Amino acid sequence: MARVFNYSAGPSCLPEEVLQQAALEMMDYQGTGQSVMEMSHRSAAYKPIIAHAEEQVRKLMKVPENYKILFLQGGGFTQFAMVPMNLGIHKKKAAYINTGIWASKALKEAKKYVDVDVIASSEDRNYSYIPRVEKVTGDYDYVYICFNNTIKGTHYEYIPDTGSIPLVADISSCILSEPLDISKFGLVFAGAQKNLGPAGVTLVIIRDDLITDTPVEGTPTMLTYKTHVEGGSMFNTPPCYCIYMVGKVLDWIEKNGGAEGMLKRNQEKAQLLYDYLDNSPYYHATTEKGSRSLMNVPFLTKETDPEKAEAINKKFVSEAAKAGLVNLAGHRTVGGMRASIYNAMPLEGVKKLIAFMETFAKENL
Ligand SMILES: *Cc1c(COP(=O)(O)O)cnc(C)c1O
Repeated sequence: MARVFNYSAGPSCLPEEVLQQAALEMMDYQGTGQSVMEMSHRSAAYKPIIAHAEEQVRKLMKVPENYKILFLQGGGFTQFAMVPMNLGIHKKKAAYINTGIWASKALKEAKKYVDVDVIASSEDRNYSYIPRVEKVTGDYDYVYICFNNTIKGTHYEYIPDTGSIPLVADISSCILSEPLDISKFGLVFAGAQKNLGPAGVTLVIIRDDLITDTPVEGTPTMLTYKTHVEGGSMFNTPPCYCIYMVGKVLDWIEKNGGAEGMLKRNQEKAQLLYDYLDNSPYYHATTEKGSRSLMNVPFLTKETDPEKAEAINKKFVSEAAKAGLVNLAGHRTVGGMRASIYNAMPLEGVKKLIAFMETFAKENL
């Protein structure tokens, strides 16, 4: 079976080169006679693997010295709790900008531990844009944003100025898709399954002063950042194989120009698709200009009758799959179509998608 173009929002496509290398090393990793999956995480063979992944994160994301890099488990959802449990301890109050499902889920979880002020929201226009929040002041332990909304396809084109209040960002679906100034943030996190590797590992980058001994009372040991800082991400068994894969994906990113190279590549892909959507008599993009994600591109046809639209969307997704273009259905909560075009999606995949869309439009207009 030939490989397909996979527009899944996550887990998502990985660079073929990385998969091939992993396959070559599957039975015998560098003369050890074992797969990385079978190794003790405390072995001499494994230690350089995690050290390399961490070094590559520091290098490619230009992580300043006063930040720690952690490889954790539990996905973005666990970070929704760990952030308030570990950071919400002085004022017991946090500010959230609500840009859709992921930010809403995070603030709902935070309410279990801290007072939450929703200081801005884009709910009024169905989360189709990112609100402009120039300056945040107030008695907050932190300000929380979701930097790229995977579901609605919106992305911050600016970083809110929070002064001395730590800024926390969920960068799950845009990590290393562009350069990002980590020094502007107190903490960022990302589940690997969008842009970094297989599902199962979550990257956290945390500034030293936010690593506390005294999280919210009752915080489990495993949900305390300090535990993992002291344990070098090996307090307990880490997701060894995922971390190995992340290291390989990071090497691929480096070979392709690092964060700057990814931005160039991603801009080219996204522009092609948005230009097509903006000029199409048949389709339209659902996000507003000035807030558009380079990674997730939701779109609809111009069919206005809801029942007909639903049928047409289904037909689109199923015919696309038959043509080798898979996972184009929108998130189950929003419907329509969505093309996730992460770092690993080649330009050819976007061109193939546009060609398919054009044919489908002609046949179904
Ligand atoms: C996918 C995603 C999550 C959820 O991550 P899990 O690893 O499934 O917990 C959180 N935030 C954003 C922005 C995401 O895209």
